[in-house]
Amino acid sequence: METSSKSTLDVPLYLCNPFLSARLVTGSFKAIIQLPKYTDISEWVAMNLFDFYTNLDLFLGFLLEFCTHESCPTMAAGTNFIYPWIEKNGRSASIPAPTHIDYIMTWISSQLDDQTVFPTRVGVEFPKTFPASAKNVYRQLFHVFAHIYHSHFTILLHARSEGHFNSLFAHFLAFGAQFDLWDQTDLCVGSGSADTKVSVAEIAEKWKEMGYLA
Ligand SMILES: [Zn+2]
Repeated sequence: METSSKSTLDVPLYLCNPFLSARLVTGSFKAIIQLPKYTDISEWVAMNLFDFYTNLDLFLGFLLEFCTHESCPTMAAGTNFIYPWIEKNGRSASIPAPTHIDYIMTWISSQLDDQTVFPTRVGVEFPKTFPASAKNVYRQLFHVFAHIYHSHFTILLHARSEGHFNSLFAHFLAFGAQFDLWDQTDLCVGSGSADTKVSVAEIAEKWKEMGYLA
C-alpha cells in the first residue's frame, strides 16, 4: 500500500533535493559579491543589476512560451500570494503573469538605459536617488524569480536548467543581502503564515541552513 504522506507530496519540487542544491557553487557567494577595490559602490550595484537582468531575460526567452494568460491569469508567487501590478495612478491591479513580466522587463530596460538613473558614461555621477532606484529594480526582478519558481520550475527541470537558475537566484539573493537591496516585506503579505508567504522564502531559508547564503 502506498505510504507516502500527503505532506511529502505537497513539498514543491524546488525544495526537494537534488533540485534544491543543483549546481550551486561550493561554499558561499561571499567572494564574488564583494565590492572590488577602487570600484564605486553604485557602479558595482548597477553593473550587477544589469547582469541579473540580462541573465534572467535569457531564461525568459524560453520560459515565457509556457507562461500564458491561461496558465497564469495572475502573478502568483505562493499558494495565496499574488503580486499586484501598481499602475501609474497608484492603483493596484491583478494582471496575467506574462503581461506583468513583460511590463517589468520593459520598465527595467528603460531604467537601465536612462543615463539620469543608471549613468554609464565616464565622469557622470550617480544621482542621489540611485539607491532607491536600485532597490526598485531589484524588487521587480525578485518578483519575476518568485513567479518562475512558484509556477514554472518543472519547465526548468525539463530543460535541465535548474542548476543554472538556482545559481543565478542564489547569487542574486546574496548580492541583495550584501548591498541592502532586499526587502523582507516582499516575502509575505498579511499574517506571514505559510499560506501568505512567497514560495521562494523557503528556498532562501534552506540555502541559509545549507550555508550557501549568509
Ligand atoms: Zn507564469
